[in-house]
Amino acid sequence: MPSPAASTPDPGISDNDLDAGPGGPPPAPDLPSPGGTRPASVPRDVLGLLGPAPGGPAFDGHRPPPAGLVADCVHCGFCLPSCPTYVLWGEEMDSPRGRIHLMRQGLEGEPLGESMVGHFDACLGCMACVTACPSGVRYDTLIARTRQQVERRHRRPARERALRAAIFALFPYPKRLRLLRGPLWAYQASGLRALLGRSGLLPRLAPTLATLESLAPRLTRAPKAPDRVPAYGPRRAVVGMLTGCVQSAFFPGVNAATARVLAAEGCEVLLNPARQGCCGALSLHNGREEEARRFARDLVDAFDGTGIDYFVVNAAGCGSALKEYGDLLADDPAYAQRAAAFAARVRDFSELLVELGPVARRHPLPVSVAYHDACHLGHAQGIRSQPRELLRAVPELELREIADPELCCGSAGVWNVLNPEPAAELGERKARNVLGTGARLLVTANPGCLMQIAAALPRAGGGRIGLAHTAQVLDASIRRLPVRHLLS
Ligand code: SF4
Ligand code: SF4
Repeated sequence: MPSPAASTPDPGISDNDLDAGPGGPPPAPDLPSPGGTRPASVPRDVLGLLGPAPGGPAFDGHRPPPAGLVADCVHCGFCLPSCPTYVLWGEEMDSPRGRIHLMRQGLEGEPLGESMVGHFDACLGCMACVTACPSGVRYDTLIARTRQQVERRHRRPARERALRAAIFALFPYPKRLRLLRGPLWAYQASGLRALLGRSGLLPRLAPTLATLESLAPRLTRAPKAPDRVPAYGPRRAVVGMLTGCVQSAFFPGVNAATARVLAAEGCEVLLNPARQGCCGALSLHNGREEEARRFARDLVDAFDGTGIDYFVVNAAGCGSALKEYGDLLADDPAYAQRAAAFAARVRDFSELLVELGPVARRHPLPVSVAYHDACHLGHAQGIRSQPRELLRAVPELELREIADPELCCGSAGVWNVLNPEPAAELGERKARNVLGTGARLLVTANPGCLMQIAAALPRAGGGRIGLAHTAQVLDASIRRLPVRHLLS
């Protein structure tokens, strides 16, 4: 039985970093603006003339953005072209460098004003800047800590509070999401969707609902997930598998394919669906620290004592959060060790399959595939070669690359719900690049990306293109299914 190797990314923060005190970069130089319109929904810094908002210093002593990490930024600007908000609006304070500058101001005692919060909120958390930065600046840690401070210390306007409360009362709860399936299915099947779409009423009457409606995937049958799937042939590993929230409610076929492929590759798969809730990714990526810690503890408990060698995740955003459990619960004496041990067992689906090596026979799938790197897989986890290696190993499958692969599709958890206009712009940009490959099938590893790009394809003038998760392609190949199974 293989022993799991530690895969938790080193947060790279030393005690010195935490003690370094304020300091860091001088104001960033002005840059030529590439143009673009910043939507009114995103608070705008009017050339800094608004000045600091009233109130105390931006950050308190509980996990502020570490000053040592802020000081690592040398203001070179290499990260700017890969930052979607900078590409859209050309504003320095909506670039990674600008946001790090604001963090420095916060550490120096500037208050957490509307303008500063607006620039932090506008960040998609896509981590393209982490990949692009030649100095190894840990923007991921910086924005995570900053968001936690914002959530604890900043009071948003009432309308925004209500929207966020509704989002976080729904999305991290798979049972509540599953309750939506019935009404959504009736809405899609009755023709009401098409009627409302033609009338153009919904965006005018209820813009947020219209955004959610446009993202909702076409529902397919959702069979109940089993507790356990036995390995096919000699058992090579015992793996726990995350069923997820959106994935389990709206993409049950992806979970079923993931479990089948793992079983075909010799893994006994434990799903334990009754005890699984949210992994906390959505909360963690939005600064809701206590909520994320609660979800993390529950998931660690759910797989306690099950003897799993690995914990497999097929959703990029969830995988990157799960790998941070050790850091998230580091100061909880009852969970610190268990959370770190759990995180060390976490693997993305493609990561584990490459690590184990294939045993199941692949059958031909004559189809051209455009592979989209989900940000939380490529940028946050550094997993780019594994899914490509798996896809290339399918006979007769032709893999094509998408232009500007580093640029986010605009999904970013619930960013597209909170910022519908720029998200739609990013979605269309990605959809055009996908269509530019001429591929018949788009493959990615995140439900949010699938929904976001699917919604944008018609607006980008797209013809028909199939959408699938990497697991579904491998499943079709192993089970000798026809290509049309993936294109329907
Ligand atoms: S995480 Fe993405 S959106 Fe945020 S600063 Fe970095 S590149 Fe820009
Ligand atoms: S690439 Fe890195 S060092 Fe250069 S400005 Fe961006 S974050 Fe700072």
